[in-house]
Amino acid sequence: MASPRSSLLSAKVLMKLLKLPLRRFVGVSIGRFLQRCSLKPSHCSYSSGAPSGSHLLYTADHFALRASLRKIIDNEINPFVDKWEEEGQFPAHQVFKTLGNSGFLGIDKPTEYGGLNLDFSYVIAMAEEFGAIRCGAIPMAIGVQTSMATPALTRFGTDELKKEFLAPTIAGDVVACIGVSESGAGSDVASIKTKAVRKGDDYVINGSKMWITSGIQADWMCLLANTNDGPPHKNKSLLCLPMKLPGIHIAKKIDKLGMRSSDTAEIFFENVKIPRKYLIGEEGMGFNYQMLQFQEERMIGVALTLTGLEILIKETIDYTSQRKAFGQPILHNQVVHFRLAELATEVELLRALLHEAVGLYIRGNEVTKLASMAKLKCGRLCREVPDSCLQFWGGMGYTNEVLVSRMFRDYRLTSIGGGADEIMLSIICKYMGILPQKNQTG
Ligand SMILES: Cc1cc2nc3c(=O)[nH]c(=O)nc-3n(C[C@H](O)[C@H](O)[C@H](O)COP(=O)(O)OP(=O)(O)OC[C@H]3O[C@@H](n4cnc5c(N)ncnc54)[C@H](O)[C@@H]3O)c2cc1C
Repeated sequence: MASPRSSLLSAKVLMKLLKLPLRRFVGVSIGRFLQRCSLKPSHCSYSSGAPSGSHLLYTADHFALRASLRKIIDNEINPFVDKWEEEGQFPAHQVFKTLGNSGFLGIDKPTEYGGLNLDFSYVIAMAEEFGAIRCGAIPMAIGVQTSMATPALTRFGTDELKKEFLAPTIAGDVVACIGVSESGAGSDVASIKTKAVRKGDDYVINGSKMWITSGIQADWMCLLANTNDGPPHKNKSLLCLPMKLPGIHIAKKIDKLGMRSSDTAEIFFENVKIPRKYLIGEEGMGFNYQMLQFQEERMIGVALTLTGLEILIKETIDYTSQRKAFGQPILHNQVVHFRLAELATEVELLRALLHEAVGLYIRGNEVTKLASMAKLKCGRLCREVPDSCLQFWGGMGYTNEVLVSRMFRDYRLTSIGGGADEIMLSIICKYMGILPQKNQTG
């Protein structure tokens, strides 16, 4: 079910688009996967290898690109993840420049701004591959850069705005963040208080944003703010906000349970002036634009975790097949291998649901219900898989020596961030026509 455009693209064309030498596409040894990581991984993920038959969503081109990305992850990201996690921040500019140089930050973006102009299925394929990074924090920050801060700008921004903000974001020259949540408004996006008031040729911004991923390192923010006093779904606008302006105060880097190498900031705005031309699209359309961005964000969020969940299951199989108790490998207990088989089945079901949503989306369908279902199920599995796997590692699972404890912390966010499980349930109920009228969400 690949799109007509993607099936016409050969790896050579992709290679040319990416400006990569041929060797980046051949001789990829998936078996060397994660070899250089200090958390001693021993299982490879099967998901980046091209399947023998035709895939329902991905072509050979998708798999070639994934293999190329896996090399960068193996060589230039994974070997340093432990250090960055310990330091509490990964070098976003350095990592994004590496990814930008190879074209991975603009997969579905127009070529005139440095993108590859491929369809959204390629973004999802790459997001699945980013899930091989051995923490949740870096894939999350990459997702913000490629698919949370930039979709509305790409679709509705002026050429001038895209040249100034989108092109350097795709190139990896700048770090982007998305400013929606506030300390008093997370799930209830419509109730945000930050204001951008027109004054002559400028907007003057006052308010604050909370939980901003990459907020410390970011060069610009896609900001959701109230631009008039009208009803909450019609009074908002999205703006490109450079982050080094007078009046922008980074209050603190938030100390979190997990996602340790992602910097998360609380940010205050005090009479921050930006030119009116930094408005994305039409004034008053910000809430709608943001809801559109959420659709892609939720599918990306699911894709970013699939490979990580598989890796956890595989590494648990490996550990429990070597570790013995009562004279036999722990894996030989039926409760253990049945549970791991059950979890692998659940992950595969989640992938099938995501691919169905993506397949429909690239054909122009509205997929809010399916994307919300996938996000909900992903939140559930991101708690269930690390928790069950950690149990089978025994005391080792409770140490900082193993991936499973990191992912137990990192993946817990999935049920909260980008719309909590309960918000997904409300949206699904709305589409099923069973949400009581006055509580309607989204
Ligand atoms: C590490 C991290 C990174 C983040 N990155 C960003 C970012 O880059 N940009 C950004 O804008 N935001 C970001 N967020 C914010 C995130 O999207 C919000 O935390 C999330 O939307 C939930 O909002 P809240 O925390 O205010 O929870 P609240 O809205 O206070 O909700 C708390 C809980 O109440 C329950 N609840 C809420 N509403 C309902 C309902 N209608 N029915 C039933 N139960 C309900 C849910 O269980 C929910 O988890 C990030 C958050 C974290 C923790």
